[in-house]
Amino acid sequence: ETFESSFLREILLDNVRKANYKKPTPVQKYAIPIVMSGRDLMACAQTGSGKTAAFILPILHKMLADGIDGAAYNIPQEPYAVIMSPTRELAIQIYKECCKFSHGSIIRPQISYGGTSSSYQSKKIINGCHILVATPGRLLDFVDKGTVSFKKVKFLVLDEADRMLDMGFMPEVKRMVHHPSMPDKGERQTLMFSATFPEEIQHLAREFLNDYLFLAV
Ligand code: AMP
Repeated sequence: ETFESSFLREILLDNVRKANYKKPTPVQKYAIPIVMSGRDLMACAQTGSGKTAAFILPILHKMLADGIDGAAYNIPQEPYAVIMSPTRELAIQIYKECCKFSHGSIIRPQISYGGTSSSYQSKKIINGCHILVATPGRLLDFVDKGTVSFKKVKFLVLDEADRMLDMGFMPEVKRMVHHPSMPDKGERQTLMFSATFPEEIQHLAREFLNDYLFLAV
């Protein structure tokens, strides 16, 4: 198994080589083709499994294949991909992976999290934002203020969903998933990652995902 056999765009394969990833981890091997095929996914995978690249690479591929162009700069507060993370530390890790793999492309990732200046983060978003990595509280804040709209969202990722649940973020997450500006499931591609799969996460998967595939690695 190689990254080359996944038919990712050459610019992404270049960045994978630069990151020195020799071969896909199991979650990457199975999730990349599923996401490329357009299906929703519920994946049980631990931190350290390589789950971040498993969702970022195919999302970047599809964004490039769909012809993300300069038009996105005119309406930068309308990201194509939104990735929700329970913690600032995880959001920073995801954001770094997004930057690493989108390097040299037109795609602009941005990050928002609580506990720091929201005006600095909102200025950065307004400068161009195709992919927004965010913690739930700050993101809801930006949506309520109109800094961010979900109307262009094609990809929604809920990373470490069990931790978002345990940390009490589900009310905010639900408000955003069901927000009037968020395309309905079926009109967006939704990916959920969780280390564990208790009943509450199973319910949330049914609520948030459309005809999804289940992957456990
Ligand atoms: P994650 O589970 O996404 O947090 O990734 C855990 C760590 O593994 C990160 O430091 C990644 O950069 C690294 N990693 C992910 N995929 C690969 C791979 N295919 N080969 C080598 N390292 C990887």
